[in-house]
Amino acid sequence: MKLEFQEYEPQRIVNVHKHVDGPWFWGKYTAHPYIGCRSGCDFCYLRGSRYLGRRDPDSFDTLIQVKTNAVHLLRKELPRLDREVIACGDWQQPTEDRYRLSRGMLEVVLEQGFPLFIIERSPLLTRDLDLLIEINRKTWVGVLYSISSLDPALKRTFEPRSPGVQRRFKAMEQLAHAGIMVGTSMMPIFPFVGDDEEQMEEVVRATKDHGGTCVLGGGLTMDGAQAEWTLEAVKRLDPRWEPHWREFYNWEVGEKPKQNPPGAFNSRIGLTLRELCDRHGLLDRMPRYIAPGPLSINKRIAERLFLRTYDLELEGASSSRIWAYRRAAWTVDEHQENIGALYHDRDEDGLRELPAIGNRLAGLIANWIRELEETPVEHR
Ligand code: SF4
Repeated sequence: MKLEFQEYEPQRIVNVHKHVDGPWFWGKYTAHPYIGCRSGCDFCYLRGSRYLGRRDPDSFDTLIQVKTNAVHLLRKELPRLDREVIACGDWQQPTEDRYRLSRGMLEVVLEQGFPLFIIERSPLLTRDLDLLIEINRKTWVGVLYSISSLDPALKRTFEPRSPGVQRRFKAMEQLAHAGIMVGTSMMPIFPFVGDDEEQMEEVVRATKDHGGTCVLGGGLTMDGAQAEWTLEAVKRLDPRWEPHWREFYNWEVGEKPKQNPPGAFNSRIGLTLRELCDRHGLLDRMPRYIAPGPLSINKRIAERLFLRTYDLELEGASSSRIWAYRRAAWTVDEHQENIGALYHDRDEDGLRELPAIGNRLAGLIANWIRELEETPVEHR
């Protein structure tokens, strides 16, 4: 397949998100040196998203846009930002052999002392292990390898050109030996063809065997052009799955599918994964990096509130209840004064004056503040 490169110089490189993406990857920023990916996985959500701009989604894996000033921009933009986690994904593609922008960006992340989260399919990440070790020593690095399944038929069907799964596990092991927090992002989990407990347990077991700490799972979403590509792929696997997927995503021919799988499906795979992770001594959420300092207690309390939103989703709680915790998590995470001090000055009244914190949440947060203050920092 012929690959075309298009160089350009954008105005900015860092996307600053409104909130951290707790309780998933805890990133506040994202930055992409390349747009497009030669692996061209059929389910890749980037095909259907704003990330491609007005580009033809069909060129996603043949035309790679290269932000040649990515390193320069990153060096200019990071000093203006709070030291929150930068999340990046699939930086290590063949384009990197030619441009080495990802490595240049890692050097800037190290210089500026930012924590880094990477979600990746390529074992080539280990060629930058020297820099990752340095960043991890200075702040923190977390890496999740994307692995949906160990079934070779699913790999061939949905991501025929991505790097082999066993090579990803080998890279995971190498990173773990270097002291880097690693795990698996089991996303997307394919309904009907890749969602049974046995398939999920194979991934959890292999993660454990290769030094992983956690496995996060999520069902396949369907969005724009990506939805059509993924449906075509499952039809190649077995055309009999088409009507099941159409019904599952409430998708009439000629119409758009529902973007998310049904809540009951997400709960089932989330609860199954939680049980499997317990069985193998892993976590089903990624531990959050929190920098030491006066606001660390806010971040720790916010982490608990975010984790509670996930538990409520798995329990099938009402969306208003989930939103109450999510809004409270944002409030506490973004509050610019130490909420422990606020509580000691003004008791729960002070907490209740914060946006989205009512009586019940103020009581809960007060308990957590007391509990955290009694816990030695290294065990929080
Ligand atoms: S490797 Fe990652 S970015 Fe590339 S197509 Fe596959 S899912 Fe998308």
